[in-house]
This record gives sequence, C-alpha cells and structure tokens, in this order.
Amino acid sequence: MERFIEFKNEVVKFCENKFEISKKEYELRKHENQVKNLYQRIGEYVYRNRSGIEEPKLVEIINLINEDNTKMFEISKEIGRLSGSKACPVCNKIVGQTATFCCKCGSKL
Ligand SMILES: [Zn+2]
Repeated sequence: MERFIEFKNEVVKFCENKFEISKKEYELRKHENQVKNLYQRIGEYVYRNRSGIEEPKLVEIINLINEDNTKMFEISKEIGRLSGSKACPVCNKIVGQTATFCCKCGSKL
C-alpha cells in the first residue's frame, strides 16, 4: 500500500510537471507570435513611410521585440529547469543538460 501511494504521488508530480511545461510552452509560442507581428509592423511601417521614416517609432517597436525576447529566454530557462534540460541563450531552443552546442542555431552553450 505504501509503495502504491509513493507511486501515485510520483505519477501526480510527473503530470503536474508536464502540465506546467505545457503552460510555459504555450506562453513561449504567444511571445514568438508577438515578435513575428512586431517584425511585420516594422516592415509595414518602413514600407508606408519610406519617404520619411521616424526613428523613434522604429526604436519603440524594437524595444517591444527586445522585451519579448527577454521574456522568452526566461520562460525557456524555466522549461529547461522543469524538464531537466537547458535553454540556448541565442535562440531559446531547449536542449539536453549536457549539450555543449545548440542543435538549432549551433551556438556554444
Ligand atoms: Zn540556439
């Protein structure tokens, strides 16, 4: 009975962990989409204002992208911690704990 309870608690912990990781991955996808939209906004802005680009407008959008990138790195680190792996600081890819190079962008970890 005691072993069953131990096993049950392990299963519950495993599922909670998986749920937490899924939530973080969802958050990560949300930020990735926000960044894509911001890149699109830069493109549209440059196209529409090609005769007179206001730098502060671009800087404003770039700052929003930087904020998202910072949040994405934090979330990736958290996913790495929960899943026993680590995140690439350049592209946020989750890689194995012992990896020395990122399998997505090739950066040294
Ligand atoms: Zn990478």
